[in-house]
Amino acid sequence: MSESAQTPMKSAVRDAMGEQIQREFYAAYLYLSMAGSFEVANLSGFARWMRAQAREEQEHAMKFFDFLLDRGEQVRLRSIEEPPYAFRSPLDTFEQALEHEREVTSHIHELYDLAVREHDYPAQVLLNWFVTEQVEEEKSATEIVERLRMAGEDSAALLILDREMGER
Ligand code: MG
Repeated sequence: MSESAQTPMKSAVRDAMGEQIQREFYAAYLYLSMAGSFEVANLSGFARWMRAQAREEQEHAMKFFDFLLDRGEQVRLRSIEEPPYAFRSPLDTFEQALEHEREVTSHIHELYDLAVREHDYPAQVLLNWFVTEQVEEEKSATEIVERLRMAGEDSAALLILDREMGER
């Protein structure tokens, strides 16, 4: 392929973004696995919510993928690890989802720090969107975890929650 006319990216930023693509796809994989487990448990509202979440994670990965291509970089895709597939309960599932989002947030912040250190301004603009998005992701996962804790062992409350989640 021909040489790009773009100003080359710092390899540290490019590599860290490549790793972030992998994390976003892993998140998609994890949420798809969770969707399957809810489907099997006849909680179709939760399953639908998780499927939508999985699609969003793929979009996140594609934002980084397209950004690297726009900067004239070759994208090296990493392999994606197998996610867990058996979950103890809806609460356990959402606690794991929240935990995962918190990890993603800290990686986004590290990536932002790196972009600042390397004076990569376009990367900072892209990452601004992700910083805001992570606030939303953690907020919605936290809300669901708290509502599942309130529902406790009450299956009627769980079914109501399942119906609401399906309206996403
Ligand atoms: Mg994401």
